[in-house]
Amino acid sequence: MEMTAQSLSQAKLPSCSTSLSPPFLHSKATLAASNFVVPFQSSKGYVTKLKFDRIRSRKQRNLGVIYASEGESTSSDVTDRWLLEPAGDGDTRHIGFKVQMPDAFEIASSEVTVGRLPDKADVVIPVATVSGIHARIQKKEGNLLVTDLDSTNGTFINDQRLRPGVVATVPPGSFLVFGCLDPEEFKEFKLVKRTQLSHNVAKFKFALPTPTSVLGLPIGQHMSCRGKDQHGDDVVKAYTPTTLDSDLGYFELVIKMYPQGRMSHHFREMREGDYLAVKGPKGRFRYQPGQVRTFGMLAGGTGITPMFQVARAILENPNDKTNIHLIYANVTYEDILLKEELDELASKFPNRMSVYYVLNQPPEGWDAGVGFVSKEMIQAHCPAPGQDIQILRCGPPPMNKAMASHLEALGYSSEMQFQF
Ligand SMILES: Cc1cc2nc3c(=O)[nH]c(=O)nc-3n(C[C@H](O)[C@H](O)[C@H](O)COP(=O)(O)OP(=O)(O)OC[C@H]3O[C@@H](n4cnc5c(N)ncnc54)[C@H](O)[C@@H]3O)c2cc1C
Repeated sequence: MEMTAQSLSQAKLPSCSTSLSPPFLHSKATLAASNFVVPFQSSKGYVTKLKFDRIRSRKQRNLGVIYASEGESTSSDVTDRWLLEPAGDGDTRHIGFKVQMPDAFEIASSEVTVGRLPDKADVVIPVATVSGIHARIQKKEGNLLVTDLDSTNGTFINDQRLRPGVVATVPPGSFLVFGCLDPEEFKEFKLVKRTQLSHNVAKFKFALPTPTSVLGLPIGQHMSCRGKDQHGDDVVKAYTPTTLDSDLGYFELVIKMYPQGRMSHHFREMREGDYLAVKGPKGRFRYQPGQVRTFGMLAGGTGITPMFQVARAILENPNDKTNIHLIYANVTYEDILLKEELDELASKFPNRMSVYYVLNQPPEGWDAGVGFVSKEMIQAHCPAPGQDIQILRCGPPPMNKAMASHLEALGYSSEMQFQF
């Protein structure tokens, strides 16, 4: 959720107030939040140009910027007044689906708290990465001040994490962020453990700001990671953590490193203690329990990571009854990623999850699929076309193309398919 705080010394406050919906004026506002980026414009020079009309027209365009305005006050204990209006259209990638946006909110007293719990915070952001009481915003002598209240995931101004309990002035044009991930700005996470899984695959464990921090990545979405290639040039690639928000304090990436791969080079060179620049969440996939009866999954190579994440989220949620049928293709047996974890899920949930491995170069005695994933394999191991199923695809481009054509030939409509 984006919010802008703007200082309006000449604001016509009575008009402002009448334009706002009463519930948000002097009581709690529920802010449907995504990344909690709050660009603050509190410059006094800018102030006089901002009139109420401007707020109104922004509101009508549904930009949802949160403004804070200061001006002559009618209240005895408050010398300036600030109006907050949520940004965006409620399509919050952070929490994975569209939410109802609140109306504008006036900071009616000289300070308000921001947090997740309606009974504790004045401004409520109902998202897991926000702490019960997360931060305090104060208006003082024409300035806007923010204090992190020992939140789990931190409060940031322009990527600088605030020290809990220490009051900070929000400089004009800067960003205030509640939580870990930011879809627009890269944030750095420390590599705390690197585990080599095979000659070219490793698991990278990154620490979140505190041991109880939540990454805040919706199920099935990915992040952009930035590194340097072998020539020292910047490279940005997509990766899906194999961890979920229920894994507190860290996230893990399973990375296959190709000899000539540009980002592969960066990961090959990374050592424990190094930092990785990450931004997100990214991706179009939206998941809510019960969305479909059964998922078919067609994965190739590293395309298993989003499938694994979705499968874990489904099977670890006792309220989710969705079934999963996975076909997972690789060249050799050694290339199969997360095999132990996948087999464990399938044996723990034998009636809800099945895995069919397909290898181009199978070892002797291999009794599963051989060659490329065929139409017959899909017919035998995936749910038949239907309104309550979906086939998820993720693999190298030639495989994705082949799978799309198989699915079309088998009668799966485009609504019944999704490619990560
Ligand atoms: C949504 C999404 C999630 C992803 N999640 C993961 C993940 O969790 N873990 C992971 O390791 N990767 C994942 N990937 C793939 C990742 O984004 C990169 O494409 C991959 O790491 C290769 O990047 P590179 O810069 O090293 O290679 P590039 O410089 O792009 O490629 C150089 C060479 O490497 C080889 N190569 C690259 N990619 C492949 C491939 N897929 N199959 C065969 N050869 C290849 C080719 O020879 C290619 O010519 C994901 C991709 C997407 C779109």
